[in-house]
Order: sequence, then C-alpha cells, then structure tokens
Amino acid sequence: MAAVTLTYACEACAAETTVRVSGLKIPDVPVNKKNRVFFLPPDEAKRQIEAGTAQPIAVKTKSMEELAREVLRFATCPQCSTRNPLGVAQQRGLVLKSRMSGLALLAVCVAGAWYFPTFGFATPILALGFTLLNIYTRRLRRLPLDRTLVFIGFAGPLALAAFARAYPNLAWLVPLPLLGPELVRPQAGRDFEWKAAAEQVRFLD
Ligand SMILES: [Zn+2]
Repeated sequence: MAAVTLTYACEACAAETTVRVSGLKIPDVPVNKKNRVFFLPPDEAKRQIEAGTAQPIAVKTKSMEELAREVLRFATCPQCSTRNPLGVAQQRGLVLKSRMSGLALLAVCVAGAWYFPTFGFATPILALGFTLLNIYTRRLRRLPLDRTLVFIGFAGPLALAAFARAYPNLAWLVPLPLLGPELVRPQAGRDFEWKAAAEQVRFLD
C-alpha cells in the first residue's frame, strides 16, 4: 500500500487543496509464463529461454497518480462540501444503466408470461433473488438492513407467485407492480463510494 500527495481542484468553488491519498496499490498484471519474454528483443528472448533465465516482467498499467485520481473522483471538497462532479456523473450513468436493464428485464417477463403463463413465476423468482442478493451485499458492506424493505422483499414475491398461480391467464400482469420501484428506485447505498474514498483521502490544508 502506498500514498501519494497531489492537488484537488474543486469545480464548484475553484479551491485547490493539497490532498494525500493513501491505501493505493498498483494492481498486479498476470503475465503468463510463455509470454514473459514477449517484450524482449527476439535474440535476447531466445537466449534467455535457452538458458532458462527468462524472468517475469513488470507491467505497469497505471501510475500512482492515476490511481489516486480515481479515488479522488469520489472526493468531497473540504472548502464547500461539494461532491466531485466526476463521481456524481459516474454514479448517475451507472444508475441509468441499471434502470434500463431492469426495465428491459421486466419487459421480457411481461412478454414471456403473455405467451407462456408459467413464465409468470419468473418475476417473483427474480425478485426474491434480488432480495437475497441485496441482503448479502449489505451485510458484506456492513450497512444496516431496513426491516420493512426486507419484509416487502419476501412478501412481495410470494404474493406475486400466488397471483400467477391463481390467475394463469393474467400472469403477464405479475411484473407490472415492479415497474414502480424500478422507476423511483431509492438509491440506497449510493454513499458507499464516497465513504470508501473519504477513508483514503486526507486534505492537508
Ligand atoms: Zn469546493
């Protein structure tokens, strides 16, 4: 783990602050045995292979400063408390992406259940899977669990499955209640990146 000191320029208040970013580690790049000599001049490579002295080479993918800048994407300005617009935009992009794929998935579920009523069970199974995944990731990140949301996360899919069983002809309606939460999904846990960055970032003036 290494640390690097650089300047953070806030886009909101234009303040330039000296900042120390710690906990940095240049990721290891696995280079397979065969390719170790790939980057050497051919004669030298041949010589090393024959002598059995071919060594692994260090491939630098990113500099310390580049790594630090990535952490600073989620920095909060110490002068005006504004979040780095780069991080805000990055999160917004991810949210939009996941929302689009969520809506596409729901559309597939509606179409599937329209033609094959049994497909109506796909939505509750998916929803239950997401509930379990959500609980798992929140535990992993040591975030508190909202009991009401957990209850809805289990009761909702069960109710939908019961509906799909009772009214096979209307099974295509089953995914629709999920449309609401998908559109106005609260961005719970969106603070994670900012908190993680705050632990690595120390403003010096
Ligand atoms: Zn600022």
